[in-house]
Amino acid sequence: MVIVMKNGHTEADLEAVIGKVEGLGYQAHVIRGTHRSVIGCVGDERGKARLQSLESMEGVESVVPILQPFKLASREVKATKTVVRVGDLAIGGERVCIMAGPCSVESEEQILATAASVREAGATVLRGGAFKPRTSPYAFQGLEENGLKLLAKARAATGLKIVTEVVKPEDVDLVAEYADILQVGARNNQNFALLKRCGEVKKPILFKRGMATTIKEYLQAAEYILAEGNYDVILCERGIRTFETATRFTLDLNAVPVLNELTHLPVIVDPSHGTGHWKYVTAMAKAAIAAGADGLILEVHPKPEEAMSDGVQSLKPAVFKQLMTEIKPFIAAAGRSL
Ligand code: PEP
Ligand code: MN
Repeated sequence: MVIVMKNGHTEADLEAVIGKVEGLGYQAHVIRGTHRSVIGCVGDERGKARLQSLESMEGVESVVPILQPFKLASREVKATKTVVRVGDLAIGGERVCIMAGPCSVESEEQILATAASVREAGATVLRGGAFKPRTSPYAFQGLEENGLKLLAKARAATGLKIVTEVVKPEDVDLVAEYADILQVGARNNQNFALLKRCGEVKKPILFKRGMATTIKEYLQAAEYILAEGNYDVILCERGIRTFETATRFTLDLNAVPVLNELTHLPVIVDPSHGTGHWKYVTAMAKAAIAAGADGLILEVHPKPEEAMSDGVQSLKPAVFKQLMTEIKPFIAAAGRSL
């Protein structure tokens, strides 16, 4: 249920309503809008009728049911778009955010060189996996904490924000010490213990859609993070499994307008994993912007042929630079800026 507060309600009214909501065994999530505040009440669906009686409390305008199964993520609870702030950077606002970097952090030389080149071309966030969720247990698993240290070095050298993946609940605090944004990958959409831990940290989460996850399931997975009190969630379409084999995945750009309708959370697109080949990345980056994405995450490697993971889909720095030039008219046409 959503409790919509009247314009001009007092803090005491709000506190009293929260007390009642919690007394009935529900969690109260206060969402303060520019015009009015609402309280998202989440908990057992069966007893929700009891919340209806709070309509008679001081300062309450109405109590309405949330029809979607993803409650806090839904536009029903929050009509206006969420802008996730990472220091001086805003994701989900007027500016399109570009995140770029290698699939994996491999060495100091590699990450520093990539960071310098993507920054120069206009990226504001450096990506790079230190903990890698690989399909094969024999594949490179990442440099782990040493990789995080190298990312911190690259941040110090360039001023870029850092996004890096966390794959298990025990590592969330460690990764949060170094990262500006924690990435939760496609393979962890059903790792509810990890999602809940990410809900407890005070850092934004870049949550990628599972490759076999419907949009409804995806938003319910995101809800696990929100329900723990972390509302700074950035969604990411990164391609789904279809019968098509010409590309690594099928980049589901339908998801962009659908998500923008269903949720207030920012939505970015990953055309690198979505296509699996560098030569298709620029076209799909343009398409993503045209579809209404709030940003892009792109794999860039100084020597893709030597990359320890995802070399085939990684752009060389010069190609990335060219992409940054070519997407500009699409960004302007979408009414956004870089
Ligand atoms: C990645 O970003 O390198 C990655 C592993 O992505 P995904 O979880 O989308 O496969
Ligand atoms: Mn990758």
